[in-house]
Amino acid sequence: MDRKPLIAGNWKLNKNCSESVEYIKKFGELVKGVNDVEILLAPPFTSLYVANENCPDNINLSSQDLYINENGAYTGQISPGMVLETGCKYAIIGHSEMRQFFGDTDSLVNEKIKASISVGLKPILCIGETEKDRDLNNTFSVLDKQVRKGLESFSESDLKDLVIAYEPVWAIGTGKTATIEIVQEVHSYLRDLIAKMFHNEFSEQLRILYGGSVKPSNVSELMNLEDVDGALVGGASLDPLEFSKIVKFKG
Ligand code: PEP
Repeated sequence: MDRKPLIAGNWKLNKNCSESVEYIKKFGELVKGVNDVEILLAPPFTSLYVANENCPDNINLSSQDLYINENGAYTGQISPGMVLETGCKYAIIGHSEMRQFFGDTDSLVNEKIKASISVGLKPILCIGETEKDRDLNNTFSVLDKQVRKGLESFSESDLKDLVIAYEPVWAIGTGKTATIEIVQEVHSYLRDLIAKMFHNEFSEQLRILYGGSVKPSNVSELMNLEDVDGALVGGASLDPLEFSKIVKFKG
């Protein structure tokens, strides 16, 4: 099955508007002509509009989160429609930092996916086990629950644009990349799980990204794995040159 690679950079709480524009101008030049990989940037909410104004056609944008309601008395929140209006095509949902620090539960993640789909934003569902989960041999039960609850009550057509990002929490921002054996084992487990929940054809076209200390030096071996269809990159996406090397992993 032909799955177009997706390489996404999550800037987290980094870069104001002018820094975002400066980055995109530099990065746009560095990835000029790259069309065989889908390139995605997830700047902070405040930079999305100007980022979109300056984005070349081969770079798409994602939000790092969104709220479940379209409007109302929800101080500090950003609605799916607002995200869409900035020009975003995707929304990252359930990132481990949102789960750890900002109260994202599996059921809230499910509602956020629903909210993104309702306006046509493509959801990137992030899942991953902690170091403790792995030490206790709970990796697969944790991932199983995150996927089943996160995707509960959706049909295949609701999820036609879904992307899953497997991000072991112990590998995020730590410099500790999961071994290629672990990554392939988990990705193939996830593809089988999705096939059981839906159909084979759906599971075969689904893109599953790996995230956790991806850098120019390890991206190629990760992307060579059968069930890895892209990467979600934090730290190494903050520098345009470094991130362009990841995007150009094919050489
Ligand atoms: C992330 O936060 O999604 C991530 C993968 O971060 P890093 O690349 O810095 O490990």
